[in-house]
Amino acid sequence: MGLLVAQEPYKRTMKLMGSRFDITVVAKDPVEANGYIDLAVNEITRIEQLISSWDANSQTAEVNRNAGIRPVQVNAELFELIQRAISISKLTDGAFDISYASMDNIWRFDGSMKEMPTAEEIKASVSKVGYQHIVLNKENSTVFLKSKGMKIGFGAIGKGYAADKAKDVLIAKGVVAGIINASGDMNTWGKQPNGNEWNVAITNPMDKNKVFAVLPITNGAVVTSGNYEKYVTFEDVRYTHIIDPRSGYPATGIISVTVFAPKAELADALATSVFVMGKNVGLNRIEQLPKVACIIIDDKGNIITSKNIEIEKS
Ligand code: ADP
Ligand code: MG
Repeated sequence: MGLLVAQEPYKRTMKLMGSRFDITVVAKDPVEANGYIDLAVNEITRIEQLISSWDANSQTAEVNRNAGIRPVQVNAELFELIQRAISISKLTDGAFDISYASMDNIWRFDGSMKEMPTAEEIKASVSKVGYQHIVLNKENSTVFLKSKGMKIGFGAIGKGYAADKAKDVLIAKGVVAGIINASGDMNTWGKQPNGNEWNVAITNPMDKNKVFAVLPITNGAVVTSGNYEKYVTFEDVRYTHIIDPRSGYPATGIISVTVFAPKAELADALATSVFVMGKNVGLNRIEQLPKVACIIIDDKGNIITSKNIEIEKS
């Protein structure tokens, strides 16, 4: 009889892309697990260096610096990510838009905002937003933002993309199962060593210390966008960090959206999109997509689920 080595889950928590990441891998011992987790961390760091708009050395920052000036050559990976982001803009009638980022000067969620921006400021800023003005040239692999002041940012899709890529790297190395948890954006593959599915806890947006539902997830992603983490309050009204790119004002009416999809990138982008589209349009769009489902909690506390979902509420 051969030696049977039991596999176990090992977890490491760290800060990456400005967020908390918990990476769990199933491995035979801590040494092997650490080696795997290091690979995932390297991959996420590599992606951060490509897509960060804060890092002046990133290709994304280069594209932004040259808005209204010239097209910038980027590598195929970034080019394709932008292409996919634009597809999601089309799918959501512009509710999702990586060029929302020029609104960053107007709506800041780092504590530095002291008053509501004026209607004029918002109007001036939102005139720089529009995925239609991101010009892609496939042959030269260039990206050009048509007008000065335009800016792209991957805040609503980057963590999901990084989670997918980290998962791919680990699968390619033969890691049988694991979870990439990017601040509650969950991406899983395989099963627990005891043969059970991974169970994923979804936070209750009304009470962050309570779990809203625990669901088994096999090889897929669950992402939640909420208005309860990053927001500003003026005259008792809460303004969330998800901006409607068409109006320049924060999205209203919803407090949390959870999206289930095969890939974390799509789930991440769609969670933000549904937030902006609102419950009716949002639900309608989600129900038309294969293997995608969602749970919406509106600002009255109503829980609305897409047709293709059944959850046991806890
Ligand atoms: P989080 O990553 O904070 O959990 P989201 O995935 O919903 O939440 O992403 C929100 C972030 O996406 C914002 O902080 C901002 O950087 C960016 N963003 C805001 N509005 C939009 C939008 N309409 N389309 C694309 N990105 C957006
Ligand atoms: Mg998102």
